[in-house]
Formats: sequence, structure tokens, C-alpha cells
Amino acid sequence: MISPRSHPASGFMPPHVLERVATHGSVRLKRCAQATLRVDAEFRARSAVAPAARPADSARRGAPARYIYSAGNEQTLPGELVRREGKSESGDAAIDEAYHWLGATYRFFWERFERHSIDDDGMALLGTVHYGDGYDNAFWNGAQMVFGDGDGELFNRFTASLDVVAHELTHGVIEREAGLIYADQSGALNESLADVFGILVKQYHLEQRVDESDWLIGASLLTDRVNGRALRSMANPGTAYDDPVLGRDPQPGHMDQFVSTSSDNGGVHINSGIPNRAFYLAAVTLGGAAWEVAGPIWYDALTDPRLTREADFVAFAELTLLCAARRYGESGREVEAVRQAWIGVGVLT
Ligand SMILES: [Zn+2]
Repeated sequence: MISPRSHPASGFMPPHVLERVATHGSVRLKRCAQATLRVDAEFRARSAVAPAARPADSARRGAPARYIYSAGNEQTLPGELVRREGKSESGDAAIDEAYHWLGATYRFFWERFERHSIDDDGMALLGTVHYGDGYDNAFWNGAQMVFGDGDGELFNRFTASLDVVAHELTHGVIEREAGLIYADQSGALNESLADVFGILVKQYHLEQRVDESDWLIGASLLTDRVNGRALRSMANPGTAYDDPVLGRDPQPGHMDQFVSTSSDNGGVHINSGIPNRAFYLAAVTLGGAAWEVAGPIWYDALTDPRLTREADFVAFAELTLLCAARRYGESGREVEAVRQAWIGVGVLT
């Protein structure tokens, strides 16, 4: 069953960014940001609704079933079916990116973990592009993924970054596996896991080792008018952008700077910087490709029945140690690298 409280209908874009744009942006930007915030609030108030005529899942393990729709700049879901599995390029960048990036994400989970789509049972991958007018967000609503075109001034279309698409799809996986409640520390863990698998999918697709990755989330999302590199940096949380309109990246990378706030569901897009950096530290210490050793430990923890919906950072950190020990042995360098990573961000002592 879909749990209404674990699906992050507030979307990829942190509300604090949109609120900044709604007060500091140009007239047009303000209008886009305010409209986006309104739509997001409506989605938060509603639980997921599966499309009336749900298309067929994939019956063949190892093969996805993708369905890309266009909302035609309206706000109806899922919209008109514009590309389905096996069909050729549409020539529309957002449609084709959604198709390819959902495919790359499916391929990662299949080839690394033999996971057959979001539910490991071939669940059809539904993505709607051209949602709304100047809509500055992307989200997973519990039944499908939705991508806006962005305002074009600060933000490009939300299909532009592979890791953003992978982030949204991973929210579906998290919901099925752990159901982490989307508030406070469990919500920040939910956000962090979406970033962890977002960056893993990107690195896997680009065949990048840990020292070749930019460790940035949403790098292609920002236009060159923004003084910033991306929306989040997993290597150095808090350094992704510093811009007159967007403000400064508020992410902490250590428990000493943990942000207590009631906004953003208790800072889920803010404090996720702490577990994000822990993953980065573990992956860099272990070296090679992050999907070889560090990724599987995090995947084991995400899919471990001992991970509860209310898990906090400490509970998740301890679980990664148990998973590392089970996979690589108690006294292996893997357990030690993971332990040092969590110590490095102040979660474990
Ligand atoms: Zn998210």
C-alpha cells in the first residue's frame, strides 16, 4: 500500500529556494515560484492517485516498462501518452530525457541489485513532462514522476539532470522498502538516500570512479545566470550555490551545524547534507567505483527489514555498520571506512 506520509510530494526543489525566488526574483520569476509553491501545497494535501487506466507493468525481469506523458503545460496527470517502451526518439528534449534517464535508473537498480523496477515486480515507470507553466519542480507523487519545464531564467527543465530523475525514482524505491517518514531526521534520511542513489546512477551511467565524480546533485538544473554549481554538493554540503536571488546553500555537513527548523518538514532537504557527506566520505575512503562497495552497503541498509519508518541518523548509521559487516566481514576495512565516515560527520562517536 502507498503510505501517504512517506511520499515526498513537496518535490525535488527545497521550499526555501522557491521562497527565496518568490521574494527576491524578477516579476516573472516571482510568478513562477509562487505558482510552483501553490501547486506543491495542493499535492501535499492530497494522497497519491494512480492514473485511472494504469498501463501494463513489465513482465520480463531486466526490462523496464516506460510510459512518458506530456501535460502540455497544463496541470492534468498523467496527460497525453507521447512515448512508450521501445518507441523511437520524439525529438522533444524533455520527453526523450525522461525516457532515457528512467531507463538508466532502471538499468542501475537491475544490473547492480537485480531489482526489477520500483517495487521489484516490474512496476511501470510513468513520467509526465511539460507539467504546468514555468513550473520549477519535479516530484514523485506515490504513483508517478512529474517534471516541470523550469522558469528558464534560473532553472532549466527538470529532466536535464540524470541524478534528479534518479532521485525522484528512488523516492519510489524508498517508499516501498523503508517508508521513511518524510519529516525531521527520518525525512532527511529519505532525502539523502534519494541523493545517494541519484549520484550512484549518474556515476554508473558516466562510468565514473569516486575521484572523477563531481558529487553534485542537480548540476544541469541551474542556468549559467545562477552563481552556483548545483542544488546540492554531497562532498561539501553548504557550498553548492551562493546567489543574490537563490541565497546561500544552507546544508550542514556535520551534526555540529544540524539545523532545527519547522519549515521544509523539519529541514529534510537541509540536514540531508549530513548523511550525504557520510556516504561521500565512505565511498572516497573505499575508492574505486562507489557502486562496487559503498553503494551495496547503503542498498542493504535501505532494504533491511530492521530499518524502521522513524529511523534517525544514528539508527541508520548503525545499520550500515551491520550491513557492511555482513557483506564484507566484521574486521574488514569496509566496516572501518563506514564507521569513520559517520564519525566524520558527528553522527557516531
Ligand atoms: Zn527528494
